[in-house]
Amino acid sequence: MSDIHKFIFEGLPVRGAIVRLTDAWLEILTRRAANTSTGAYPLPVQALLGEMAAAGVLMQSGIKFDGALILQVQGDGPVKLLVAEVQGDLSLRATATVQGEVALDATLSEMVNANNQGRCAITLDPKARAPGQQTYQGVVPLFGDRHEKLEKLSDVLAHYMLQSEQLDTTLVLAANAHVAAGLLIQRLPKINWGQIPIDSPERTRIKELESDPNYSEGQIGKNEDYQRIALLANTLKPDELLTLDADTILHRLFWEENLLRFAPAASDTAPRFACTCSRERVGSMIRGLGAQETESILQERGDIEVACEFCGLQYRFDPIDAAQVFANPAAMPSAPRDLQ
Ligand SMILES: [Zn+2]
Repeated sequence: MSDIHKFIFEGLPVRGAIVRLTDAWLEILTRRAANTSTGAYPLPVQALLGEMAAAGVLMQSGIKFDGALILQVQGDGPVKLLVAEVQGDLSLRATATVQGEVALDATLSEMVNANNQGRCAITLDPKARAPGQQTYQGVVPLFGDRHEKLEKLSDVLAHYMLQSEQLDTTLVLAANAHVAAGLLIQRLPKINWGQIPIDSPERTRIKELESDPNYSEGQIGKNEDYQRIALLANTLKPDELLTLDADTILHRLFWEENLLRFAPAASDTAPRFACTCSRERVGSMIRGLGAQETESILQERGDIEVACEFCGLQYRFDPIDAAQVFANPAAMPSAPRDLQ
């Protein structure tokens, strides 16, 4: 089962979360691998996409945005696009478009920033958009402060969070064929009471500090605390992140810190895979083509094959399936927008 654990450090404005995607990640890889026109992801793409999926869940769980958080890398190398989309309930899907040879040891730059034009974009797309409400999007190039090419997604995202959100963030990310995992440590910009459980020692301690006439946000947000915890987090090796459970990792890294784990709220859901595609939707799309067009495709190719662009799952309709689509149109729902 995929899971996520959130925690804070008692008395310090530092929060964290650790995520492990297992079944959800496997579903993403299995659908792609079964697609006869794309085949499985090259290994470096698999690793990068897994890191994006884990990072997307960590970021979404921190803001609990009611809509989709979409993490995108637009590449100018053999990998044109990678997308990880995470909904407010932590359901997710992810995909990548590969158009050239990707070497087994390809770096991030070689895949998506070969000509310095690679970009990372984060979009917040509200579920129910109020009139006039915009989607929010932030974009960063894949370069650091000294114009060096960034070679780790975690550095790209940390850079993004600092630049556009003014948030100190440390991320450790890793993915293989079984697990996509991530650890996030973030310095809270200001006290967010919603993050702090009622009657917790954390709350009492901050109340005490606030009543101090010398109190300032700078004092409570002492950078050295964040720096120390970030340093500890960065000692975590990808292999440990992928193989150890959350309890073991948190204990190994932070046993000297006062770490408070959040018990999940009743409304919290575990990360899981979900895509909006279905055989019925593809059927209604074929119906939209009309009987004549469908017939000519069938004559030319023998069957109709449609792959979901968000998850890679292929839907195949042979002449008999196609005939059923037209024989019983009332049973078919109307085509969704993303398949029209
Ligand atoms: Zn799909």
